[in-house]
Amino acid sequence: APADLWLGELASGRGDQAQKPGPFVLGRNLWKAYGARPVLRGVDFSVARGEVVVVMGPSGSGKSTLLRMVNHLETIDQGAILVDGEYVGYRQVGETMIPMRDLATARAQARIGMVFQHFNLFEHLSALENIMEAPVHVHGVAPAEARRTAMRLLRMVGLGNHADHLPHRLSGGQQQRVAIARALAISPRLMLFDEPTSALDPELVGEVLAVIRRLAEMGMTMLVVTHEVRFAREVADRVIFMDEGVVVEEGTPDEVLGAPRHERTQRFLRMVE
Ligand code: ADP
Ligand code: MG
Repeated sequence: APADLWLGELASGRGDQAQKPGPFVLGRNLWKAYGARPVLRGVDFSVARGEVVVVMGPSGSGKSTLLRMVNHLETIDQGAILVDGEYVGYRQVGETMIPMRDLATARAQARIGMVFQHFNLFEHLSALENIMEAPVHVHGVAPAEARRTAMRLLRMVGLGNHADHLPHRLSGGQQQRVAIARALAISPRLMLFDEPTSALDPELVGEVLAVIRRLAEMGMTMLVVTHEVRFAREVADRVIFMDEGVVVEEGTPDEVLGAPRHERTQRFLRMVE
């Protein structure tokens, strides 16, 4: 279908013809502390192009901190993250890497879409206007074109008839689908999801997971923090299990979720299932 064709273009990152070799996201020896409290203690991870990596782990294990680092929302104490071969938080001038002070600009240029547990929609803007906001005001897309794209995205997440609704008139599941559409509107090269269904009533979880599953099928590169084990088994190419700021184990869903080797992983899975 034409819609799928277009989504395929979206997922492959239109205009990024000169793809660099190596993993799309590469995190090496990442350390982070808040005050004296260590949160990440030497984390290594990677996401290949088109890969879906699910991150699991108990509350406080550092999952959100990791995601936020990838998207310039958190500074890195030690170690480095490369996205598409470029250092997060730095810009290269000649041979020198200079820390970026303007993280908002860095974030806009990186074209990474992020979806949070709490949808964080602009309450005074309609569903359509929420989706148009970043393309028009951050990326300088003409409003008419941004509107067309936003309508396409709304239809894709099953909300073509809700374009004019303000967020408070939408259910939690609908709001989260608008948030996903909004993240997609910048033609992201990478999508980050931080517990996208944790704040939803159980009956609304499925409609949001269905949209994420569809993106996975389209080949979108994604890093997803979720406690939804069944979803992870279906959609993840790889699962990373974290606890207390370290990667405890990682592998295919069958390995990590089906036959976990570590006691901490086993305990966690007993708790969430
Ligand atoms: P997770 O997403 O796995 O629950 P987080 O990355 O949110 O873990 O947090 C890891 C630890 O860091 C938690 O103990 C949390 O309280 C702490 N933390 C997170 N953000 C901050 C912050 N801005 N200031 C101080 N402590 C923080
Ligand atoms: Mg978190």
